[in-house]
Order: sequence, then C-alpha cells, then structure tokens
Amino acid sequence: MGPLSLPRKVSVLGSTGSIGVSTLDLFDQAKVEVEIVALTAGRNVEQLAEQALKWRPQIAVIADEAALPRLRELLAGSGLRTAGGAAAVAEAAAADAQWVMSAIVGFAGLAPTLAAARAGAVVALANKESLICAGPTLLRTAKLAGGAVIPVDSEHSAIFQVFSPSNAQHVARLILTASGGPFLGWSREQMGRATPKQALAHPNWSMGAKISIDSATMMNKGLEVIEAAYLFAMPPERIEVLIHPQSIVHSLVEYADGSTLAQLGPPDMRSPIACAFAWPDRLPWPAKRLDLARSGPLSFDEPDLERFPALRIAKQALAAGGAAPAAMNGADEIAVAAFLGGRIGFLDIASTVEETLARMDRQNLLRPSDNDPVDSARVTDATARRVAGEVVNGLMAPVHA
Ligand code: NAD
Ligand code: MG
Repeated sequence: MGPLSLPRKVSVLGSTGSIGVSTLDLFDQAKVEVEIVALTAGRNVEQLAEQALKWRPQIAVIADEAALPRLRELLAGSGLRTAGGAAAVAEAAAADAQWVMSAIVGFAGLAPTLAAARAGAVVALANKESLICAGPTLLRTAKLAGGAVIPVDSEHSAIFQVFSPSNAQHVARLILTASGGPFLGWSREQMGRATPKQALAHPNWSMGAKISIDSATMMNKGLEVIEAAYLFAMPPERIEVLIHPQSIVHSLVEYADGSTLAQLGPPDMRSPIACAFAWPDRLPWPAKRLDLARSGPLSFDEPDLERFPALRIAKQALAAGGAAPAAMNGADEIAVAAFLGGRIGFLDIASTVEETLARMDRQNLLRPSDNDPVDSARVTDATARRVAGEVVNGLMAPVHA
C-alpha cells in the first residue's frame, strides 16, 4: 500500500458534540498524525478543556463568552491559547487548517463553515443547516477558494461515494434512506402524547438532541432532501425518500440505464467521517465490518407524509425556494427547543414550522431577495425565530380564559 495523502492540519468545530467526539475518536482509532489547529465548543467548557489538554490545539474557543474565564482557569499553566464568542469561533475556523470538520449544530454553524470555506480548507460538512440556509453560496465559496465541501451526513456521504460527477447528467434519481426514527409505527394519536425522552431514543444512531428530535419528526429527512438538492445539483422531483429501518443501506443513486448503486455499512458516523477525511483515499481503521449474512432482512417502504408532515413541509419549502428553506430551518430550531423544554407537544413541532412559513409567506418574507445571500439568510433566520416564538406562545396560551 502506498502512502496515503491525508490532511495534517485539522480543526474540529463543535468538538464536544456527537460528531466532534466521533471525529477525535476516529483520529485515535486510525492512529493518524494530525496537528489540531482549533477546537471549538458552544458551552461545555469542561469537556472542551479536557479535549484541549489531550490534543493541544493552537487555540480552544468557547462560543459562550461568559464561559471564557472558566476555560482560562481550566487551562491555566497549559500554555494553550483560548478565546470566546461567536466571532472568535469563525476566526478560528478560518485559521490555517487544511481540513475542517463542521459539526456545530444549527444556524450557528453557518458563519464558521463559510469562514473555513473562504479560507480554502476542505470542509467536512456535518452541519447540514448551513447548506439549507445558504447552500449555493457555501458551495461557490469553497470552489472559488480552491477548497471543497465533502458531506459527512451518512446519506450524502453514501451518494457522494457512488455518484460520478462525469455521469451527473445520467442520474435518474437520488434515493435517500431514512430509518423512520423512534415513532415509525406510531399513530398520530400516540405521537401527540410522545415525551422528549421517547423522541430522543433513536433506534439506530446516538446523536445530539436537535437532530434526534428532527429524526423523530422526519424533519431531518426533509432537511436532507434539501441538502441533497444543493450538494448534487439535483431538481427536487428527482430526489426520493425510502424508509429503511435497519440503517444499513445509507442511500442510492439510480442511473438512466436502470442501474442503481448503493453504499452500505454499519450505522457508525465514524465511517462517513473517515471517508470525508481521507477522500479520495480510504482510511484504514478498526471499523466494525458489515456482516450481511447475520444482519437479518433489509426492508424498504414508502414514507407516510400524513403521519410525518415535516417531510412534506420540507419538500414544499425546497420547491418554493427563495427564503423558504432558511425560514423553515429557523422555525424548526425554535420548535424543537420548545418541545424539549416541555412547552409544546410533539405534533406541534411540525405545525409550528408550517404556521411560521404561512405567516411569513403572507407578509411576503419568503421571496428571493437581491441582497447578499448570507445577509438575507441571517435576516430570514432571525425573523423565522421571532415568528415561530409567537406561534409557540399562541399554542401555549390557554384556549379558554
Ligand atoms: P451535538 O448537539 O451533539 O453537538 C453540537 C456541537 O456544537 C457541540 O460541540 C456544541 O458545543 C456546539 N455548539 C452548539 N451551539 C453552538 C453555538 N451557538 N456556537 C458554537 N458552537 C455550538 O450535535 P451533533 O449530533 O454532533 O450534530 C452536529 C451537526 O452534525 C448537526 O448539524 C447535525 O445535523 C449534523 N449531523 C449529526 C449526525 C450525528 O450522528 N450526530 C449525523 C448527521 C449529521
Ligand atoms: Mg443523515
């Protein structure tokens, strides 16, 4: 085997999250030699400090500025540089890493991800929200800077691996698989009573809270349809979703000649991370192997858009274009937080998003704008959060005084 040409200088944005921790663990497991330029986290200073002492990054950044003194205290005497605040996260993202794992959750990931792309790094993209809110800009920015965006989301990593850009015009359909989440077989009535704890218990993947709830509503698959449309420049009508509860076939590409290519693997995010890290090489690491003879039958089914309206809402937002995807994303972040905080019910998540889009549409706030796309995404996100907050408050208000 010839030497691999792996990135050496890397940054991990969102290092304390599910994907961030898996990324650092993969570096350990694969015994790769990396120099960490930046590690960044939202609030969890204790875990960030622990990671920093182990990995000795050039800088450790905490987005929550109020937590910076504590980070300094924990790293006192270590000689490690620290910083705090959202601007410092974006600045660290633009430092001289060749490869940047973008694993911050939510819209907060957009500015740092763009900063990394602008700096010409290879961006391993887990933060799907940045693509939903400013997909074309992010991809163009990376291309102009001589970098690249490589998907980490397992479905998009799967498609990326079996999609040959030279054959793009011969792609008939992209088929995204979905586990269906913890409520796959539940009735609407049962879902109406679902608790955050039940919704967080994903059958196949262990993930951060926001994406776990998005998986339960299937908004996650909706976000992924939009993500696929941008990443692979595919029209919405050629992107389909199939329920595949075993999460072994991670997605498929159907070509015009009737041939369909799929990518398979055990459900472990370290595999798509390894792919994004070594591409176009392959990273050897002690991954669990797929044992098809013992994995049991693989099943596929059509999604039920009546029980899971979030998927329908996302497809409509993609078809509507303009500011609709970013508005949907912002509203969803507010609705998920409200559900996790016990302020609204599970079914209210999708209805909050839908009502927010309807109100913004009535105020002509979803049309494409001539302003800078990132500025517009910022305005849309802030407006969607405000309107969704009002919708949530309305749901909480007692109907009978
Ligand atoms: P998580 O909640 O476990 O981790 C999020 C990370 O972002 C943490 O390090 C947190 O400290 C940081 N963070 C949170 N708010 C921040 C802010 N305002 N500013 C800066 N940093 C902030 O989430 P996760 O499950 O690791 O997911 C991360 C991203 O990857 C999400 O966009 C998610 O959709 C995507 N993704 C995750 C998985 C998975 O298996 N977990 C799979 C596919 C895609
Ligand atoms: Mg996914």
